[in-house]
Amino acid sequence: MEFRAHKATLRLAETFTISRGSEDEADVVQVEIVHNGATGYGEAAPIERYDESAASALAWLEHVTLGDDPFALDEIFDTLPPGEQAARAAVDAALYDLQGKLTGRPVYQLLGVRPVGPPTSWTIWLGDPDDMARRTEKIASRGFKRLKLKLGGFDGLDVERVKAVRSVTELPLMCDANEAWTLDEALEVIPQLDVEYCEQPLKAGDPDGPTLKERSPVPIYVDEDCHTLADVERCKQRAHGINIKLAKSGGIREAVRMANAARALGLGVMLGCMVESGLGIAAGAHIASLMDHVDLDGNLLLASDPWPGVEFVDGVQRPSTRPGLGVEGHGVPGA
Ligand code: MG
Repeated sequence: MEFRAHKATLRLAETFTISRGSEDEADVVQVEIVHNGATGYGEAAPIERYDESAASALAWLEHVTLGDDPFALDEIFDTLPPGEQAARAAVDAALYDLQGKLTGRPVYQLLGVRPVGPPTSWTIWLGDPDDMARRTEKIASRGFKRLKLKLGGFDGLDVERVKAVRSVTELPLMCDANEAWTLDEALEVIPQLDVEYCEQPLKAGDPDGPTLKERSPVPIYVDEDCHTLADVERCKQRAHGINIKLAKSGGIREAVRMANAARALGLGVMLGCMVESGLGIAAGAHIASLMDHVDLDGNLLLASDPWPGVEFVDGVQRPSTRPGLGVEGHGVPGA
């Protein structure tokens, strides 16, 4: 199979801030695989927190060979070099897109899963409490059914942030501290939050994780603690649920395995995303029905989405019914 990869830079509609920093644009890697006259496209966002970048992803992709059979996923993935989860996810997505185009089926049908999952949350990124409330009001008419609040301001105002947002909306809220709190801080803050669950309050691997799980009145979900199937069992000691992202798992295949393993362990399952175009979000949308919670707003945060096709309907990011991932690149070289 012929195969090409490149970096694409996505421009955000507004500056996005979390506890680790701010960004106005985000780099993703996009992969295209050609076979028997069809082209499969895939994308993923390398995550700086895990020492991945578009450059490291593209360097890894130079060592990839794919063989001749886009359906032989076991064989293909056995030959891939280790590491670079985002680049791996882009290859995985492009192979599924290709399989769908060769068979005339959307990816959710290839997987035998339901097409429609839970509504996506919309992310209210980190800011002053009043600013977060104003931004909540601003998106009130856009049809989101739940909101995810980025916390972890290191300024003692996280409880105020949730209260300020709560004062202007009745939507279900969740929060994500992105590793900002210690056990003591988490135990002080979390009981004061009107949220359905709290994502990654402690640093990944914090030895206090099991104590927080035991004492928190609100379910704890882990993100930075949980990357691939190998992490899922360990997360049961420190969390009530896991946040699966394709850019961490290395693609749809591993994400489905993680969701199944989490269920077997009695853990809740959430699907997250990075800042991604519709091409990256589409891969998530096709497996969203396996999840309890969905946070797939990456393409909706962009100034404009170069890969339309995922439809936002009744708060849900619905995958296209067209073959493969069902999205098409606009003004994208090679698409
Ligand atoms: Mg998170």
